Amino acid sequence: MSAERKIETVTTGQNEIIEFNRGLLYEESLLWEKEHADHPGVDLPAPENLKSRTGVPDRENIGLPQVSEPQVLRHFVKMSTWNYSIDHGFFPLGSCTMKHNPRLNEKLARLPGFAQIHPLQPESTVQGALKLMHELQHWLAELTGLPGVCLAPAAGAHGELAGIMTIKRAHEMKGNKGRNVMLIPDSAHGTNPATAAMCGYTVKSISTKETGRLTVAAFKEALGDGKDVAGMMVTNPNTCGLFETEIQEIAKLLHKAGGYFYCDGANFNALVGKVRPADFGVDVMHINLHKTFSTPHGGGGPGSGPICTTAELAPYVPVPTVVKNGETYSLQWEKDRPETLGQLKGFQGQFGMHVRALSYMMSHGADGLKQVAEDAVLGANYIMASLKNDFHAPFDGPCMHECLLTDKNQKDAGVTTLDIAKALCEKGFHPMTVYFPLVVSGAMLIEPTETESKDSIDRFIAAMKEFAADVREGDSEKYHAFPESTPRRRLDEVKAARTPVLRWPSDI
Ligand SMILES: *Cc1c(COP(=O)(O)O)cnc(C)c1O
Repeated sequence: MSAERKIETVTTGQNEIIEFNRGLLYEESLLWEKEHADHPGVDLPAPENLKSRTGVPDRENIGLPQVSEPQVLRHFVKMSTWNYSIDHGFFPLGSCTMKHNPRLNEKLARLPGFAQIHPLQPESTVQGALKLMHELQHWLAELTGLPGVCLAPAAGAHGELAGIMTIKRAHEMKGNKGRNVMLIPDSAHGTNPATAAMCGYTVKSISTKETGRLTVAAFKEALGDGKDVAGMMVTNPNTCGLFETEIQEIAKLLHKAGGYFYCDGANFNALVGKVRPADFGVDVMHINLHKTFSTPHGGGGPGSGPICTTAELAPYVPVPTVVKNGETYSLQWEKDRPETLGQLKGFQGQFGMHVRALSYMMSHGADGLKQVAEDAVLGANYIMASLKNDFHAPFDGPCMHECLLTDKNQKDAGVTTLDIAKALCEKGFHPMTVYFPLVVSGAMLIEPTETESKDSIDRFIAAMKEFAADVREGDSEKYHAFPESTPRRRLDEVKAARTPVLRWPSDI
């Protein structure tokens, strides 16, 4: 079937293209395509006797588009509306925890005393900011049960690097030799094996294909005698949205063999306030402040990936950390903590994220954070229970904060996970995470934000049920044509990745 493109272009006079879309969804050309060579954006008189001191001969030749201020404004404002976000609508992107960002956080992060300070200011002039960081360290330590906190890492993956380097440093300082293996389940997020490899470890995979969970038996098989094992990286709840029920036993065996337990804390939203990861044996964990504790991410702002460790590993974490002596706060650097692995990030990390996260925590309070986890788990299980007769659920039991389905029931009729994701775009929903985790074929990982209303979850469920019903009734052909209403339809993603066009015009 051929779908009507809803974008229309009118060319009037010299060069001028007016693009519009019915329903006020805009198409937009490049600024260079809009320019009038004889209508410069600024009309200052040409400077006389100008001698360039930068090596650039004159302003006209540096290739800036000649457009007026209103054109520039509309160009960027239109494009700013293309970035789909949790502020637009339902965003059930599994693994990513797309949270509502309370505006209170933003208000606090913009207070001049937080927003207009400089990391090179004397510590005596930024005591309030240091106190805030100290308080955040304290909340993270309380919530995880892990007292050694470093706020510096800039994202989850950076936290993993900091955490695994901490483990490596601990083995070095203790004189442990020959431990070059990192155990990682096959359902892990790609950043886990990547981090281990970056730190020079050989990755040994633990199979979870049978039940979606780690088992003591599979762990023992991967561990062997454990003499070469530096540690294990596990996400709990894992990337199939399941709580690792045998994790305490596995952590005990790992510790007995001399390894450290790294927990990828990206899924902490399901546990926060309910379970302290230290209690199931974790030695080091990163926290994605931008997932569990709100703050914009996914194109909306910088992330922050603090790490929390046991007291044993605390001396090795990166610098700086904030300490309190009497009533004075200060940053601790290498000279005060010689066993540290060093510095991984400029200054003290993403301070604006620290403000937002602490604001989120304090406005929720300990009981409110517990409620966050309960609502996240309830929402995902509601979706699971509502859709499990329409879509294949590969693993038994209740899920945590995200629910995993597959396209197994639809595939024979030619409708795949990709088609379902595109149909969701057509219906006005951001798709779930697709084809991850890799341990199941055609994965759809759905994580409803805990602040989502039952109404909006119901609308999503109804859309998914409609797709399944269409496929059952043989009306599946149209699924290959979705989405029809978006400015771009199906892209050749492989070509886009392999031969990206990064220049304009594209033929130079
Ligand atoms: C998001 C995520 C990461 C990486 O976090 P970033 O902040 O994107 O670097 C790692 N592991 C899991 C399970 C995640 O969901």
